[in-house]
This record gives sequence, C-alpha cells and structure tokens, in this order.
Amino acid sequence: MGEVVGRFAPSPSGRMHLGNLFSCLLSWLSVRSQGGRVILRMEDLDPQRTSRTHGEQMMRDLESLGLSWDQGPCWQSERGEYYQQCLDRLKDQGLVYKCFCTRAELHAANAPHAEDGDYLYPGTCRELTEEQAARLEIRRPPALRLKAAGREGFVDGHYGPQSYDLAKDCGDFILRRSDGVFAYQLAVTADDGAMGVTEVVRGRDLLSSTPRQLCLYRMLGLPRPAFIHIPMLLAQDGRRLSKRERDVSLEELQTRLSPQEIVGRLACLAGQLDRPEPVKPQELVPLFSWEKVPREDILLPESWFA
Ligand code: GLU
Repeated sequence: MGEVVGRFAPSPSGRMHLGNLFSCLLSWLSVRSQGGRVILRMEDLDPQRTSRTHGEQMMRDLESLGLSWDQGPCWQSERGEYYQQCLDRLKDQGLVYKCFCTRAELHAANAPHAEDGDYLYPGTCRELTEEQAARLEIRRPPALRLKAAGREGFVDGHYGPQSYDLAKDCGDFILRRSDGVFAYQLAVTADDGAMGVTEVVRGRDLLSSTPRQLCLYRMLGLPRPAFIHIPMLLAQDGRRLSKRERDVSLEELQTRLSPQEIVGRLACLAGQLDRPEPVKPQELVPLFSWEKVPREDILLPESWFA
C-alpha cells in the first residue's frame, strides 16, 4: 500500500470550534497511526467570511495542542487559477451551465429540499439557450452549475455503504458563485485530488457532500480518497455546535484547561480514553482505533461549559 495522506481543512471564519478540532484530532490520529503525512489547507475562499488572521490563529491553536502537519499551509484563496482550469475541464465536456436564479426565487419556487437541507435546484436555467443567457447576463452575473446525474456509491470508513442518486438527492450544484467565488465542492475536490490525499476525515454533516465530490472526481479524472465521516459534537440542548455564544469554544476552554487536558477530553469523547485525563496527541497514537469511535452524535458533558 502507498503512503497515507490526510489533511486538516478548516475554514478560517473565526476561532477554532470544537467540531473543527475534533475532526483535526481524529484525522491526525488516523494518519499518524498509519505512519502517514498530514497536509494543512486553509479553506479561505470566501473573502466575506474568512480571513488570514483567523487562519493564522488556527495554526497557533493546532500547534499549541500538539497537532502537527507536514505540508502547508496551503491557502485556497491563492489557487484560483487552478480551480479555473478544473472548471474549464468541466466546461469542455459540456457539463456546466449559467444559472441566473436568485436565492429568493429558489425559495419562492419551493423546491423540494435535498438530503442535507439545501435546495434541490429545480433545473430552471439548465435548458437556457445561449441567446437567452446572454440577455439575462446583461442584468446580473450568473452562478455556474454542474449538470449532475448518475449514481455515486462509496463505503464510508465509519458509517458503511452509502448510495446516492445525484439528480434526486443532490441536484445540479454550484461550482462558482455569481460573485466569482469558487464553491466548496469544486475547490475541495480539486485540491484533495491534486494533493494526493488518500483519506478524508470530517464531520458527518458533510456526508451528503461526498456524492457531489465523487461525481467531480469522476468528471475531472482525479484519484478519489477514502472517506471517513465522524459523529457531530452536540451542545447541551442537542443542537450542533456552532459559533453561537453559549457554545464552548477553544478560546474559552484555553482559559481554564491546559492543552493536554483539552486533548484528553476530546480523546475521551472519541472513545480513545476511558477517562478524560491529560494527554498529548502523540501518546494516543499507539492506542488509536476507529472501532472505538462512536457512531452516534456526541452530547458535550455539562462539565465542558464554564
Ligand atoms: N472547510 C470545511 C469546514 O471547515 C471542511 C471541508 C472538508 O473537510 O471537506 O467545514
């Protein structure tokens, strides 16, 4: 078997939240326990929501916890030319079309929701002629969508066999937004493919993005990695953790816990320790096993909250 290559791919849109950190820890442990290599990639494509300052802070946070990487950081905001080449490859195959629909119009159309709560695009602009598109383009810049079709199946390393009908479950998805920002699905596939990533570890909220990405791997002729999705961390009221005030953030935890205590608590939630004792990530490597990681989402214990 070849070298195992994993990655951390946070979006630097604020301070590290525990969900990010949980993914980074499990990704790191999985790769290190196989003697592999870790790439750090900052997913900072959206200039409105992300910044280099947040990215640099995230790097300090990862370092302070002992989560090291071997390559990067690579900043997606610097890779526009490469994403454009990938987009052009899809265009050349006739797989891309211009979409002029606004969010408000999509809401009004009351389209059935895709599996992950996204709108399932009803295909309104799919059949526009070039003349129609040119006329609309005078008024507003288009987003670019992929004509998605077929089935994508894969065996998730943690949740087992998955199968999706692209048209029914995902719909034609966006590759580049109308403001020119490349979409997550395109950038993440283009990068994981080009960087030789062999395993992707991430929250199961992204499970339903995987068929979209598999479709892109196929169309772009890029090698596809193995996917291992992990349970979500939930706040006390059962909500997924977010950047809301009451949710525990790393920043807040750092004021009352040492880096080893934080890692120990996360490792315990991940089933790798029986008790949340202080530990360095390195010490967990020989013990690491996917078998021990729960599949159910994980409620953060009350003791995590100040
Ligand atoms: N950048 C994404 C996030 O922070 C993760 C992307 C991925 O792991 O595929 O949610």
